[in-house]
Amino acid sequence: MIPRLCPRPAVRPYAAAMGLKRECERCGAERRPVVEINERGVPHGAGPEHRQVHDYVRILECPGCGHGVLYSFSHDCYLQPWETDEPWDMDWTWRLEPEDLTRLRQGLADCPDPLSHLCRCPAHDVLRNERHAAVDQDEARVVLGEDGLPRLRRRTGHQ
Ligand SMILES: [Zn+2]
Ligand SMILES: [Zn+2]
Ligand SMILES: [Zn+2]
Repeated sequence: MIPRLCPRPAVRPYAAAMGLKRECERCGAERRPVVEINERGVPHGAGPEHRQVHDYVRILECPGCGHGVLYSFSHDCYLQPWETDEPWDMDWTWRLEPEDLTRLRQGLADCPDPLSHLCRCPAHDVLRNERHAAVDQDEARVVLGEDGLPRLRRRTGHQ
């Protein structure tokens, strides 16, 4: 199965219209990040520092209903829009249940700064290294390893 991909024009849209909606589809509350897993580069338009690539992976939670998403964003403006069929901005979303976020928080109990992708704690390292383990489904799970660290897994199918 191909990761769910929101169709997007080749011209970069405004930030507000781009990527995952801030509001939860279930209850309308505004999602908040629980953990920033990985980030590379700086946003498009961020002056001379932006060098074609900006991507990140984070987990967001809805404070209204407790559901969450694993969210992956990828920007690459190496090719001009007329040189490629791929949009500059692409993103992927995997749904997470409230219990996944509970386990995630347990696994992050010793993390000094869940909202920093620069954190080098063991939980962050595991999430960062295994952040692609949940791809090709649109739902993911968070499990706790025997070491107590949070791990991303597919919800169904083979592990
Ligand atoms: Zn760019
Ligand atoms: Zn909600
Ligand atoms: Zn950490």
